[in-house]
Amino acid sequence: MKDYTKTSFTFFWRFGLVLLIAVSLLNLSRDPGQAQTTYPEYIVVYGDTLSWIALRFDTTVEDLQSLNGLDASSGLHPGDHLKIPTLAGMQGILTTEFVPLGSSLTSLSRRSQAEPADLIKANQLTSPSELFIGREIVMTRSENGSAMQTMDSLKTGQSFFEASILAGQNTWQLAEMNRLENPSHGLPMDTYFKPSDVDSPNNLAIPGLKSIVIDNLPMIQGDTYLIKVTSESPVTVKASLNGKEPVFVDMGNGMQMAYGAIHALTEIGVYPLTMEFTNSDGETYRFDQYVMINSGNFATDQPLDVDPSTVGTEEVKREDAAFKQIVAPITPVQQWDGLWYSPAQDADCIISSFGSRRTYNDDPTLYYHTGLDLGYCKGTDVYAPAVGTVVAVLPDQIVRGNTLVIDHGLGVYSIYMHLNSFNVNVGDIVAPGQLIGIIGTTGRSTGPHLHFEIDIQGTPVNPLTWLRRAFP
Ligand SMILES: [Zn+2]
Repeated sequence: MKDYTKTSFTFFWRFGLVLLIAVSLLNLSRDPGQAQTTYPEYIVVYGDTLSWIALRFDTTVEDLQSLNGLDASSGLHPGDHLKIPTLAGMQGILTTEFVPLGSSLTSLSRRSQAEPADLIKANQLTSPSELFIGREIVMTRSENGSAMQTMDSLKTGQSFFEASILAGQNTWQLAEMNRLENPSHGLPMDTYFKPSDVDSPNNLAIPGLKSIVIDNLPMIQGDTYLIKVTSESPVTVKASLNGKEPVFVDMGNGMQMAYGAIHALTEIGVYPLTMEFTNSDGETYRFDQYVMINSGNFATDQPLDVDPSTVGTEEVKREDAAFKQIVAPITPVQQWDGLWYSPAQDADCIISSFGSRRTYNDDPTLYYHTGLDLGYCKGTDVYAPAVGTVVAVLPDQIVRGNTLVIDHGLGVYSIYMHLNSFNVNVGDIVAPGQLIGIIGTTGRSTGPHLHFEIDIQGTPVNPLTWLRRAFP
């Protein structure tokens, strides 16, 4: 005889268990504290708009509003945290920065402690070559994460274990931070990071070198850049970008610097920057990374009609060639200190900007404005913007008129054209604010103004950069 009671009991017991599990699962999935989708947060800065943030993170204003409980009437305030719908699964705080010199997906991930896959997703990367210097990229950081410093690179024969001890770190923790499965996987030429009080700007570790940093990113047509290298032992550094080789000068204390200029007519695009480091044993380490050169947003002037004897003639070519010789030497001493002053009495009296595209007398040859034209607004005095040595006083140039040239060192020259008269002589060392000349309209000039130019290794750069930020 069948025991129905037992069967029923078994059935109910089993059914009950299934029901219990099902209810538990249901509860688990409804529990807001567990298994919930995470989103990284973007901190709103002054000037941000929802549509701009949506564009930047490949989402829509509607999706941003719905995820963050905003409506059309909610304002956006600097410091607000916004969850980003398209980056579901990531966490931490989103920051943006320009891809620095020497960084790769691996080094960026090690430094920020973000997963490489998350960096790829946040930046919609399809190839490592897209990590060009100066590109703005999105990174994530944990809200209370530590800053990271580049470690000295492993020397030949040195283990990651030994390097971690020297760095005062726990080997396994450090290996994990650097995404090494095992400390024995550490490699001599690889770049590793350790926790620190301040973030290191350096992203590349080469034996013997302490840091390599490129300054004034992103690169812009007609702008100045600076490469700084510090090393603990003598090293010869070479760099090449778009056919130009900025020259490194030894500044003492293991520091070498090279000022470079991006020609104002350089086509916008990515260019390889090649750097070479040769140590005293003759070993050479070389690396390439793409650099983005962005638009200088230059205006195009109306076609200009000028005296034909001031454009392209043999005399003008001779004047240009002689001028090139004057600004060619690289004096290995930096004479200036910090920010430069405007050479005019009214710094805002700008009548023509640097870089504007020009043609002369219906000839299609494209020229550009190589300096900053400061008009006659408050007075006619011309002042030295920074310490330097007067290296040329050139009267009656066909194009430049009465011209003064000051060498500030490291290949950086300032030039003053169309002057009425000079107040200094060749060899004078001038101080910032010192009267050096009087505004005039000599040479190829249509009215009284100062053409203020800064040349780096013979290439004119936007002078406003030097009036707005201090180098180095
Ligand atoms: Zn000018």
